[in-house]
Amino acid sequence: MIIAVASGKGGTGKTTVAVALSMASSEPVLYADCDVEEPNGSIFLRPEVTETEKVLVEVPRIDEGKCTSCGKCARFCQFNALVSLGSPPLVFPELCHSCGGCEIVCPTGAVSWKKVPIGEISLGTSDGGRISVLEGRLDVGSSLAPPVIRQVKSHIADGVLTIIDCPPGTSCPVIESLGGADYVLLVTEPTPFGLHDLKLAVETVRELGMPFSVVINRFDEGDSGVEDYCGDEKIHIIVRIPHKRFMAEVYSRGGNLFDAIPEMREIFSEIPRIIEKGVEVK
Ligand code: SF4
Ligand code: SF4
Repeated sequence: MIIAVASGKGGTGKTTVAVALSMASSEPVLYADCDVEEPNGSIFLRPEVTETEKVLVEVPRIDEGKCTSCGKCARFCQFNALVSLGSPPLVFPELCHSCGGCEIVCPTGAVSWKKVPIGEISLGTSDGGRISVLEGRLDVGSSLAPPVIRQVKSHIADGVLTIIDCPPGTSCPVIESLGGADYVLLVTEPTPFGLHDLKLAVETVRELGMPFSVVINRFDEGDSGVEDYCGDEKIHIIVRIPHKRFMAEVYSRGGNLFDAIPEMREIFSEIPRIIEKGVEVK
């Protein structure tokens, strides 16, 4: 089963939940960090990294001998990755989405391809090998999260409980991360901002037709807006995590949710079973 942990915005405790699910499982589990712009699950899981691999994408290479400086490729490119000022175009690889269009529109066959790195994947293990840890990391300056996420997900094997730590928000990287998941946990907090972003996240997963439920972090602070909304929308709240003053200190030392609130371990260990029942009856 693949469980994706997502949230409408950053800072809601999404990684705390994804890491806690991985740690609470008594069976082998794969934690896949698809929050590639800011992966931080490994801070808590402290994996022993056994393998790394580069993420490469293809970007155009312009043959100046064949180029007539017509500018068609630059006019075609929707991402401003090519700039032609009456000269052979300059290529800005960090903006290129590798769509291949510039090669198609070029009348002289001046466009070929070269591979450039945009990020890295690391594979490792934690907790004596029980937790496999996959992490995607986008290079600074690159904006192409989806190819890095795709490469992280290419390592997911069937039959292993997998926890995907999604990027925050509801844009392309999130959609890429959610693809193939059996169930989504939407992490939020009981504030007006949390409610606003939860509504967007709910719209997204409903649009995708994915089964989901909500985790309320710091449920004992803030207001009742999220609870009321979930009640009105008949959205299941699968777990409520309390807030303790010393939690920030525990997390800042690399501690996890169970270091702060040990009794949450049993609750989290039950979540995959509860979801499985829900997934089956859906
Ligand atoms: S491959 Fe697509 S995105 Fe990249 S430069 Fe060519 S047209 Fe632009
Ligand atoms: S379309 Fe081809 S010939 Fe025209 S500017 Fe681009 S690379 Fe040069």
